[in-house]
Amino acid sequence: MPQPQHLPTRTELTDRARAAATACGVDLDAVAGAHEVVSPINGEPIASLAHVDADAVDAAVTSAHEAYLQWRTVPAPVRGALVKRLGELLVAHKSDLAALVSLEAGKITSEAAGEVQEMIDICEFAVGLSRQLYGRTMTSERPGHRLAETWHPLGVVGVISAFNFPVAVWSWNTALALVCGDPVVWKPSEKTPLCGLASAALLRRAIADVGAPEGLAHVLVGGPEVGEALVDHPRVALLSATGSTRMGRAVGPRVADRFGRSLLELGGNNAAIVAESADLDLAVRGIVFSAAGTAGQRCTTLRRVIAHSGVADELTARLAQAYERLPIGDPIADGTLVGPLVDAASFARFEAALDTAREQGGEVVVGGGRRLADAASGAYYVEPAIVTMPAQSDIVRTETFAPIVYVLRYDDIREAIALNNDVPQGLSSAIFTNDQAEAELFCSAEGSDCGIVNVNIGTSGAEIGGAFGGEKETGGGRESGSDAWKAYMRRATNTVNYSGSLPLAQGVDFSV
Ligand code: NAD
Repeated sequence: MPQPQHLPTRTELTDRARAAATACGVDLDAVAGAHEVVSPINGEPIASLAHVDADAVDAAVTSAHEAYLQWRTVPAPVRGALVKRLGELLVAHKSDLAALVSLEAGKITSEAAGEVQEMIDICEFAVGLSRQLYGRTMTSERPGHRLAETWHPLGVVGVISAFNFPVAVWSWNTALALVCGDPVVWKPSEKTPLCGLASAALLRRAIADVGAPEGLAHVLVGGPEVGEALVDHPRVALLSATGSTRMGRAVGPRVADRFGRSLLELGGNNAAIVAESADLDLAVRGIVFSAAGTAGQRCTTLRRVIAHSGVADELTARLAQAYERLPIGDPIADGTLVGPLVDAASFARFEAALDTAREQGGEVVVGGGRRLADAASGAYYVEPAIVTMPAQSDIVRTETFAPIVYVLRYDDIREAIALNNDVPQGLSSAIFTNDQAEAELFCSAEGSDCGIVNVNIGTSGAEIGGAFGGEKETGGGRESGSDAWKAYMRRATNTVNYSGSLPLAQGVDFSV
């Protein structure tokens, strides 16, 4: 397969960014400032933006709280009309937003478009949900009493998001929050602020179109200090934070300290077991997409292959062949499958992890080199690496946010499941097998301890219909489909006595 050799110029990327942001309704001159936005495509700046300060955070949350007081009284299906309009605008601006995702996060065009499609999908889901915020009715133990749960809007939702899903994560939170009756104040990653400004501009347009309160949508451009101000704000009822476990460890206790709610979506260290009975064609395709796709920069990226000894050598050889054919380069060029790492720090971690893996007995089978350094010294394109490891060492238990997959061996399925679970993180997992009993065991209570457990499919590429998130150091949060909406509402249990007498629960007698 031909390998892309050239990278776009700074002017080309700057013009593209300006055109896409403007089409979404962003006035770049109005938000200009001292902080450069660097594209990982060529390592050069594509815009310069102002960062907000703590006063701006307070003003945004205060405005959002005022909007909440109004929005909570609007019937949920009417709130759904706002999300429906947002979905329509996302359809109309899919290619603009996708262009910004590629420019800021370095995703290849089809993955960037897929990320925007996920936004459209969650809007559709949320519109339907706006008519289905069901509470339960329970039978009361007392005669003439009705016992029921009602769900009410919670308050301001603060969203902190990571660079690698610069638009979808906001939309998962926002579409649900809005139908649940909550405004959203968003701090996107400082690496992807144009994606933030453009998405928020589309929501502001939707708000104007349907006549909803203006304060429902805020975006705050800035670094971790802006995130901290949001974390500590007493009016932020739910803080939904997506990023590294390091970030979650700082954020979680601070929100808990003020008795706020948090929803944490943190790091993963995802494994796929490849059983002796597996269809290796399927396994190879699933592994290559999950491990090398997005240049290894998904929370669900496959980082460990746990292969049965009977197939490990053949599987590794076939994976290596597929890796050698991967087109690496400019993510917006046709045919590219692997784009750049996000920045120099990420590249340094990639190299350091490979060195450590070698020290811990690993052998790099393929990849590990750098590409296109002559074309742009500030852009970091790497060859995705496969490393065979004698055992699960410290480096294998660490999430390195880059395309390195470690291959381990097993002989017994329970040993494989133990290896799958023997890491601090618990996000996604997979098994490739044609043995139904093994597949069921993997999905059972004795199986994978992750939030996402797949059979004959890779670890990445979840659909919005299911609840998304993971256990242990992944943070325990759930976003997106299923009943994840409950995190964005408060529950009241109502007991209504229409009996005319006052029987007490549990038969207590308190007659005076
Ligand atoms: P990061 O932790 O460096 O930054 C994420 C966000 O947190 C940014 O907006 C950043 O400004 C903010 N932040 C950092 N420190 C903060 C603090 N002390 N207080 C408040 N805000 C703070 O992560 P990243 O490099 O942007 O993203 C990669 C990481 O995100 C990986 O670990 C990946 O697994 C994880 N991730 C998880 C999910 C998931 O759903 N589980 C999804 C995407 C990414």
